[in-house]
Amino acid sequence: MNGKIALEEHFAIPETVMDSAGFVPDNYWIELKARLLDIQDTRLKLMDEHGIDQMILSLNAPAVQAIPNHAKAIEIAKKANDYLAEECAKNPERFKAFAALPMQDPEAAAQELERCVKELGFVGALVNGFSQSETTEEPLYYDLPQYRSFWAKVEELDVPFYLHPRNPLPQDSCIYQGHPWLMGPTWAFAQETAVHALRLMGSGLFDEHPKLKIILGHMGEGLPYMMWRIDNRNAWVEVEPNYPAKKKICEYFNENFYITTSGNFRTQTLIDAMLEIGSDKILFSTDWPFENIDHASNWFDQASISEADRQKIGHLNARKLFNL
Ligand code: MN
Repeated sequence: MNGKIALEEHFAIPETVMDSAGFVPDNYWIELKARLLDIQDTRLKLMDEHGIDQMILSLNAPAVQAIPNHAKAIEIAKKANDYLAEECAKNPERFKAFAALPMQDPEAAAQELERCVKELGFVGALVNGFSQSETTEEPLYYDLPQYRSFWAKVEELDVPFYLHPRNPLPQDSCIYQGHPWLMGPTWAFAQETAVHALRLMGSGLFDEHPKLKIILGHMGEGLPYMMWRIDNRNAWVEVEPNYPAKKKICEYFNENFYITTSGNFRTQTLIDAMLEIGSDKILFSTDWPFENIDHASNWFDQASISEADRQKIGHLNARKLFNL
């Protein structure tokens, strides 16, 4: 299929590139590093070869979220965003941008998002899970009360917020002790991100800011598969849900969330997601350079779904969501 738009597509700057070392064996690092630092060369050739019209680019992970010093986090976010703006300007028909945000400082994050959207023409933000801060040992999740003014700004700017995975901190990883293979994309990324998304849904955030649009990668980080059970466990026990939000979790998931196919190229999983969240809320993505563009495209182009759904998921939903 030609004309696809892909939106979980990463790059790195020299200051953040080493954050991605360790996700592949050492003998693959040279290749992964080169892929991360390239924007206009191999990436563009692969896009042409596999029918990808546009990519929305984002910084690698965890990058800004793992810089506890607020001043440094703000500096790296601005540097990455300025660099990305320059790269997109070289080929504005093919590349759009998600802002990296210093979420350690909610006020600075709101200001940086506004600068990126209004001055640099970015189409949203991509944030790598919770943030670390010099002010606390605890990971900062964005349902916390200090983030409500940040979310008001996101709603006002009317741009999507992509909640991208990162691994839990060592202090919060005891369930994985002795089983390092479960970290990262195998399991820990999805677990971490799904819980963060559920915290947002249960917190009442979307009652206060009903127009927020949150994107999850990897076919929804497992949430479509679990959505019925989340709302219906022990249905014979007639008690109100024990969270601040007003509605059922599935209502927020269906109303405020979008998911992408990044790194999860499986028709059975896509069909489950289509049955839960609907084909209007699913968007094609690859997760380049951690996954291959040909693996994503060859699967998606031939997946057993209707051509109308392929057009929606492949590009129409993205055009609408980002006004492309
Ligand atoms: Mn990714």
